[in-house]
Amino acid sequence: MTLTVKSKSRTQLIDITSDIRKAVRSSDILEGLCMVYVPHTTAAITINESADPSVAIDIMMVLNEVIPWKADYRHLEGNSPAHIKSTLVGASEVIAIENGSLVLGTWQGIFFCEFDGPRTRSVHMRLLKGEFV
Ligand code: ZN
Repeated sequence: MTLTVKSKSRTQLIDITSDIRKAVRSSDILEGLCMVYVPHTTAAITINESADPSVAIDIMMVLNEVIPWKADYRHLEGNSPAHIKSTLVGASEVIAIENGSLVLGTWQGIFFCEFDGPRTRSVHMRLLKGEFV
């Protein structure tokens, strides 16, 4: 299953939790794993607080401070900071499924991370059915 995500700014965290929950609910899987993956070198997936949207803004603010747009980068495309952020945050997350639902904490949400937008992006999901031991 693939989701399409359209980012609206150069860097942005987009909460995709409800889309992932919907896909898990519409499957017949009660126990298993849900993998969320981006096939992009300037985007990422992360899990963090979604209850307060300020957290996502703060995360991006600090990433932008730690990895500045202007530095002595060699990559000619000019988007090295986006590549670096993608590697630091990571291209995927794996979430357990129990009783047909994602195992997420009360405050946790799943975010698509845009580091070189605005763009139209793909987020791939794979569900794996199986009982935990
Ligand atoms: Zn590049």
